[in-house]
Parts: sequence; structure tokens; C-alpha cells
Amino acid sequence: MKLFKIFVKASRRQSRNRVPFLFSITSRSFSQLRSHSERPPFGIAFDIDGVILRGNTPIGGSPQALRRLYNECGTLKIPYVFLTNGGGVRESKRAFELSKLLGVNILPSQVIQGHSLFKQLVNRFENELIIAVGKGEPAAVMSEYGFKNVLSIDEYASYFDNIDPLAQYKKWTTKQHSLSADSVDWSRDIQVLCDILRTGGLPGREVAHQPPLYFANDDLEYQAIFPSERLGMGAFRIALESIFNRIHPNALEYTSFGKPNPSVFKNAETVLMQHAPSPYHNLQVVNHAHGGDHIFKTLYMIGDNPSVDIKGAQQAGHPWFSVLTRTGVFKGKENHAEYPADLFGLFLLLHHLLSLPLFVAMCRASLHRHKKNSVNHSNARTI
Ligand SMILES: [Mg+2]
Repeated sequence: MKLFKIFVKASRRQSRNRVPFLFSITSRSFSQLRSHSERPPFGIAFDIDGVILRGNTPIGGSPQALRRLYNECGTLKIPYVFLTNGGGVRESKRAFELSKLLGVNILPSQVIQGHSLFKQLVNRFENELIIAVGKGEPAAVMSEYGFKNVLSIDEYASYFDNIDPLAQYKKWTTKQHSLSADSVDWSRDIQVLCDILRTGGLPGREVAHQPPLYFANDDLEYQAIFPSERLGMGAFRIALESIFNRIHPNALEYTSFGKPNPSVFKNAETVLMQHAPSPYHNLQVVNHAHGGDHIFKTLYMIGDNPSVDIKGAQQAGHPWFSVLTRTGVFKGKENHAEYPADLFGLFLLLHHLLSLPLFVAMCRASLHRHKKNSVNHSNARTI
């Protein structure tokens, strides 16, 4: 409720400062705005962990917020996607899980995970042996993408006796692994990956050329159920790289996908266009005055991690606009110093955000964006 009041106050202040254009736009309905535009006005990319969910618990009325993006008959009226660096399950399964948790019908194509862009590697590695590492079912994910020869690191390690000398001391049983999601057993995975990477895929043999290595994301930390942040795949990458570089003559070579990689945002823009309501489906990309070919006037990245969500949106540039919440990794009272968001400080119920207050904020932000374009990020607004 506090946020609502802040927005209302802000709007009134704008009114007193004679910015009627701003206020008149915010009083129009979405359909009115849409009818005056050749392009969808905006789309939204939501991060999941720390924004929509904490563990499996919705944050801040996120189910109600998402329902506002559909009309009464359940048709999507505002295109949105989930743009997460998480993963480990197929997009179809994640969409099903999210639909149950959030109470709306989420399509698999609305779920973009850290490893989703691994599909682009199928042509190159379709018939190569893929070792998938990480929680969940990464081998099944890779197989669904089209890779023909995939083993989980569990399956792979089982072919080598005593490859993990600590296995006898481990009281748990892991089911799968990959670099498509967070490692479950760091010590075993680092050991086996070092074996694979320094021998060219033949553990126990001599040093050879390193095979290609891909990470689904490079998140140092993420917000889970525990009150403070948990170490993510980026932390695992640092550990693996540090050790590998001490035991191999050449430094580890790797590629990281996921946010903040600009290609992820470009792909999200394409997906959002596919979910834009008619009559925008068949629109061609237009050349925007601010430079570049884009379909949407504005795309909002709503995330909780400055170095991932906000940095990514900034690097992607127009039409992306970053919104930083206080519901996850970011807990600061001031805008983030290194990666300041275009709009920050959202910490209350998302259903408030997507009702009038957020719409006011978005319109304010859009207008301001067009005016400021060259303003230094240190001048980013706070709410
Ligand atoms: Mg997050």
C-alpha cells in the first residue's frame, strides 16, 4: 500500500508541476493506447527467483499480478515471458509447474531459461557426446533440444571405477547433473569435469585439448528460500576454473549463456513478439528513431539482480527498460551503484505494480526514457 501511495503522490506532484501530458496518458486504458499505436506499446520479461517466486512460494501477490495481463476470457492481452537463468527442467515442465503455482495458463514458449539458447548449438554438436551437469533433469533437457548423444554426469561417472574417491563417504544419492543447472555435488562434478576437460574427454589418459564447455548462466548468487543469497552457477564456474587453471597448462575456455548476455534479450524480444496480441502478430520490425530495429516501443525487464537483470537490460539497450525490485538479491535503499536501474525500489505486492501504480510508473518511465536518452545512469530515478 505504501508503494501505491508513493505513486499517487508522484503523479500528483507531476500534475502540480504542469506535466499534464503525462497524466493524461496514464488515465487512458491499455486498449486505447494500443489503438493509437502501430506497434505493441510494451512487453514484460519477468525474472522468476526473487521476483515472482521464492522457492515455490509466490512473492507479493504475483499470481494476481499475472492475471491482470489476461483479459476476461483468458487471452493474453499484454505479452510477457519469464526470463530466468534458472533451469534443469524442460520448458514444458516448468511452464506446467508455474501455471499451477501462479494460477494462469503459461505456455512453454513463455519460459526462457538459462539453457534455452543451447538449442542454437544443436547443429554444431548434434551427434557429439554431451555430458550434462546440474540439478533436475539436464540430460532430458538436452535430448529434447535435439542432441542425439547425451549422458548425465552421473551416468558418465558410473563408467569409471573410483573416479570419485569421496563417493564412499557420501550418504546421499544424486540423480542428475549438467552445466544446464546448478551442480548438486560440487566435489564430484569438479573432479570429473577436470578429468574430462584436461584429457579431451578420456579420463585417466594424458593431457589433451580441452573440449568445448558451456554454462547456462554465470550467476554468482541467487535468492532462494534461505534468507541470504545462495551460491549459483557462477560460483561453481569460478571454483572449476580456479582449479583447472592450476592443473592444466592452458586456461579454461568456456562460454556462458543466460542473462546478462545481450543475445538472451534479443531472443526474448522475438519470443515476446510471438505472444503479442492480434493485430500485432504479423507486424514487421520497424526502424525506431532511437536507433536499431525493434518491434516494441518498450520492453520491461523486471528483476532482482543488478549484475544480471539490470546489467543485461542496459547492455541490450533500446527498447529495454530495467526495473529493479527489492524482493530478492537486491535489498538496497538507493539505486545500485554499479548497475543502476531505470526504475528501482519496488518491494510491495506485484499486483499493485501491475494495476494503476505500475502503469503510471511505466508510462512515466517511457516518457522520461524518450526524453533522457543520453542522460547518465547515475541520474536514474528512484521511487
Ligand atoms: Mg532473480
